[in-house]
Amino acid sequence: MLTIIRFISSLAVLLWSSLSFAQTLSLTFDDGLNPDTQAQAEVWNQQIIASLKDAGITAMVFPSLARIGGDRGMNLIMDWAQAGHAVGNHTATHRSLAAKDMTLADFILDVKKADAALHHFPTWVPMLRFPYLKEGDTLEKRDGFRSWMKANRYRPAPVSIDASDWYYNQVYSTLLRAGSQEKAARVKAAYIEHLLDRASYYDGLAKRVLGRSPSHVILLHTSEINAATLSEIIAAFRKRGWAFVPPMAAFDDPVYASPPDTLPAGESVIWANAKVHGVAGLRYPAEDSVYEEPKLRSAGLLP
Ligand SMILES: [Zn+2]
Repeated sequence: MLTIIRFISSLAVLLWSSLSFAQTLSLTFDDGLNPDTQAQAEVWNQQIIASLKDAGITAMVFPSLARIGGDRGMNLIMDWAQAGHAVGNHTATHRSLAAKDMTLADFILDVKKADAALHHFPTWVPMLRFPYLKEGDTLEKRDGFRSWMKANRYRPAPVSIDASDWYYNQVYSTLLRAGSQEKAARVKAAYIEHLLDRASYYDGLAKRVLGRSPSHVILLHTSEINAATLSEIIAAFRKRGWAFVPPMAAFDDPVYASPPDTLPAGESVIWANAKVHGVAGLRYPAEDSVYEEPKLRSAGLLP
């Protein structure tokens, strides 16, 4: 009997390891686009949704009311929902919980205001993506908001892989507006390499800290560079052996359920776990334009 049980359990381990052989990634997009201030908002939104459809990928979008403007921006979020992508909360005003002048009470109001405007979407999920991935600069704010989420059946929506897509977008857009198509194309290529590099960095850090490769969640934005590059990004990841899973499946990974004990709280959940484990050499902030600017400058790619 014992031999049979041992046999079955080793089969299960074998099956699990073969299933979890590929690193998995899910795509989340923050902010949303505002057609009132961004002339090409509709085009970019459609390009991103079409790239996801072509690749057979289900993603998740986290709109902030301040970033989508009014009804027209809201309609673009409806396009995501109708295409089957989950919709979460990214606050009304996009202010950081770590800002000195942001109180816990004001932050809760900010989350509730966005909730009231977004919860009618058919694919709505009560999950919060913290602006700037900042989860509080004091114990009172951090734990106060964690208690609020528990009491209100809200879940945090952390990422495991953070990157500076917003900065590459800024450079890319400026180059395009200046008519520097050739440089913009090279920024696109550098951007894809940056994402692959960050994914492999956070996966390596996860293996060190958790002893395994978790179901990864990457932070991207609804931006011009992602509209232009998403199909290539997906192809590049697949070529390196990554498989895509829907964010709602990835968030079931236990790494997202237990918030690490760090202060200021936030960043990638892998970074925060590494901080708790005392891993040496972690930079803070974990990702920022200050790390990317010198690379683009030395490649002669800054506008
Ligand atoms: Zn944001």
